[in-house]
Amino acid sequence: MQAITIIGAGIVGMCTAVALQQRGLSVQVIDEREPGTGTSFGNAGLISVDSCVPIALPGMIKSVPKWLLDPKSPLSVKPSYLPFAASWLLRWVKSGASESKALKQGRALRELHKDAPLKYRELLGSEIFDQSIRITGQLHVWEQVQKSPTDLLGERIRAQNGVTPRELMGPEIFDLIPEMDRSIRRAEFYEKNGHVTNPYLLVQRLFKIFTDNGGQFLRQKVVGISRQPDSNTYRIMTSASDITVRQLVICSGAWSKKVLSGLGVSLPLETERGYHVSFDRSALDFKIPVLHKERAFGVTPMVDNIRVAGFVEIAGLDAAPKMQREEVLINHAKRLFPSLDLSLKKNFWLGFRPSTPDSLPILGRLDAMPNLYFGFGHGHTGITGAPKSAEILANMITGAPNTIDVTPYDIKRF
Ligand SMILES: Cc1cc2nc3c(=O)[nH]c(=O)nc-3n(C[C@H](O)[C@H](O)[C@H](O)COP(=O)(O)OP(=O)(O)OC[C@H]3O[C@@H](n4cnc5c(N)ncnc54)[C@H](O)[C@@H]3O)c2cc1C
Repeated sequence: MQAITIIGAGIVGMCTAVALQQRGLSVQVIDEREPGTGTSFGNAGLISVDSCVPIALPGMIKSVPKWLLDPKSPLSVKPSYLPFAASWLLRWVKSGASESKALKQGRALRELHKDAPLKYRELLGSEIFDQSIRITGQLHVWEQVQKSPTDLLGERIRAQNGVTPRELMGPEIFDLIPEMDRSIRRAEFYEKNGHVTNPYLLVQRLFKIFTDNGGQFLRQKVVGISRQPDSNTYRIMTSASDITVRQLVICSGAWSKKVLSGLGVSLPLETERGYHVSFDRSALDFKIPVLHKERAFGVTPMVDNIRVAGFVEIAGLDAAPKMQREEVLINHAKRLFPSLDLSLKKNFWLGFRPSTPDSLPILGRLDAMPNLYFGFGHGHTGITGAPKSAEILANMITGAPNTIDVTPYDIKRF
């Protein structure tokens, strides 16, 4: 029997696997896919150490009807899926009901994100870190000069967490990124943020470290889990085998609820689907990721492609991709970067953010289920939050103390 088994070889599972190995544990990872080809494959790759504003904020509910009626809007709910998502959406609205809640969530997000580069360096080593992560800063941009109430609330949450971006107006914006369209009139530069050179390669590099350290990988689909109360072990039924394990960590991203369904665990986990369109790296010459805050999309310069990512679509795990999203993303990108060479488009991708109503992941375990740990629900910032989450989980599993308050990530908050 392996000392510990992880279900899911995305960024969270692989960071956790390596963190556990660094503490001397023998680790097995199970995934139905090649490591790093779930949601960790096609995200925008931003390492947003300064990101501490939850998604649901007071006052946002007023914008929801407008978003839902506009086909180009960044948020949509598939009408036929609404009955399935209703309770999660209600919790989402409630979790953003007051500024004090948002401030509390902001502090917990900040703790998870602020040391991301350092934590990645500890997992990867300096040489692989330098190949995988660039601290270039990030530019957030607006076409409107006037700040909205949500912008101002975001500013207050950031200020409470010691995050003060450099505000840029007019020509100084274009000194930083000359290729950007002059419709941009306001910007904030977050100099400590950065991006990964390619998220799939990052997971693959962690996977290589894992196998070099003796880690075992089982490429199988988990179809059921049951608990053996007498021995406090878990029986995992996969597409090809039946395995009994003593310690189990669920890092199955947006599929975690499905994976855990046999154990009767109730989870407020939904997927916020998102899309990307990528272009050959030569389609545009720029080095700093840009997030267009009004249109809610980002453009990231990766090592081998330029990635334009965005949308929040509440439609579950099984609905077909909405192909019209591709054109919207292309138009957004062309409008922001008029010199982008559209003939160099590479691919269009749909991914599944694993999201909780309060933007915080679920890390830890239930009293009734000893030796079963949860490590999922990282929503919009799993690439940023994965290495610290791995440290938290590894400390919990080995009984080492955590240096930060981990109660905001506890499943018991729901
Ligand atoms: C468009 C978009 C843009 C994003 N941009 C950013 C960004 O810029 N910065 C950032 O920090 N985050 C970003 N994110 C969020 C980030 O991608 C996710 O939070 C993160 O990838 C989640 O990682 P994970 O390991 O939890 O899940 P995944 O990468 O999805 O891994 C879960 C794994 O579990 C496996 N699995 C599931 N069910 C089973 C089963 N039954 N049996 C076996 N294996 C199973 C899957 O195959 C998968 O490999 C973005 C997401 C999207 C969609």
